[in-house]
Amino acid sequence: MNNTKTALVTGANKGIGFAIAQGLGAIGFRVAVGARDDVRREEAVERLRAEGIDAFGVALDVTSDDSVIAAAEAIERTAGRLDVLVNNAGIGGRTDGGAQDPTTLDLDVVRTVLETNVLGVVRVTNALLPLLGRASSPRIVNMSSNMGSLTLQTGPAMAAYAPSKSMLNSVTAQYARRLADTNVLVNAACPGYVATDFTGFNGSRTPEQGAAIAIRLATLPDDGPRGGFFDEAGVVPW
Ligand code: NDP
Repeated sequence: MNNTKTALVTGANKGIGFAIAQGLGAIGFRVAVGARDDVRREEAVERLRAEGIDAFGVALDVTSDDSVIAAAEAIERTAGRLDVLVNNAGIGGRTDGGAQDPTTLDLDVVRTVLETNVLGVVRVTNALLPLLGRASSPRIVNMSSNMGSLTLQTGPAMAAYAPSKSMLNSVTAQYARRLADTNVLVNAACPGYVATDFTGFNGSRTPEQGAAIAIRLATLPDDGPRGGFFDEAGVVPW
């Protein structure tokens, strides 16, 4: 069996996802760059390769069943198995016109955000679990947010985005329960407030800093935590 470990990062063409791909590549992973736009994906792959990283592109729109199935087939053809899945792709959703004020909530925005941030994660995870099952120490990391913490309630009121991350946390716990007697470790990560397109580059942390917790959870030892929610400082309350 090939000893090179393969990691798929969704939404890896920019921001935190790109930094996760960079970080995993730098420690020896072969990185599958999951991205929906052909040009942005190939540019990211080229940037990673220029840094000496073993990267390949995988066309992936997490909202499309067909795209996700084709992505799993492409990874099977290229790598034969998957060692790490980082479900990083996420959207904030529109906020104009009170679209995410709970009292004027635009339900189409809720549907759109859930489709990517929650259903997308389930769709990708379930398509890749057979390939993860072929790895010796499979790891799944779901990129969440402390805005989804019901205890902390960080940031502005965003009644589509924040609950999408609360649900993602809950789904993470469900996977961990279901996979408790397997070697698949599933955890959720919060990157902190990071300067990316997502935040209009207002975040106080770099993408590399935001990526660090995902990389740590992607490389946990076999006796590492399951079904937890972590940031760089440790456990994040649900
Ligand atoms: P960016 O907006 O910079 O990047 C988001 C990535 O997700 C892009 O690559 C984007 O692709 C991709 N994406 C969006 N929708 C889809 C889709 N349907 N299929 C495939 N890829 C998709 O955001 P960040 O890097 O900041 O965020 C990454 C993750 O971290 C998100 O889940 C976010 O919720 C989370 N997070 C970020 C925080 C921050 O402060 N930045 C704080 C807490 C959590 P494309 O370029 O094609 O749009």
